[in-house]
This record gives sequence, structure tokens and C-alpha cells, in this order.
Amino acid sequence: MPEHTAPKPVCHHCGGFPVVVITTGTRHLDGSRRTLRVICKACQGTGTRSACQQEAASRG
Ligand SMILES: [Zn+2]
Repeated sequence: MPEHTAPKPVCHHCGGFPVVVITTGTRHLDGSRRTLRVICKACQGTGTRSACQQEAASRG
């Protein structure tokens, strides 16, 4: 019997997508797109809530 794995506490700030790559609309000289990587500051790019945030959420 496989055990049910507890669902990871997904970061509500980014919804589990901690790193987002956006295009700036400009291109490098070689033709490749310039991109910016934005990392969720709430979870520091982990995609899950940290312990301190869970504690804050449980307080309501
Ligand atoms: Zn996040």
C-alpha cells in the first residue's frame, strides 16, 4: 500500500511557480531574446511556504 504523501504547502504568493522568466521585448545582438528571471521573494524561489509563514497563516 503506497502511503499518501502530504501535499506540499504551496506558496500562495506565487502559486507554486517561484521562478518566472519574462521577455523584455528587446533582443541581444545575436538575435536571442533578452529575458529577466524573477524569483518569488516570499518563498525565495522554493515554491513552498516557509515555517514562519505557516505560523503566521495559522494565527489567522
Ligand atoms: Zn512564492
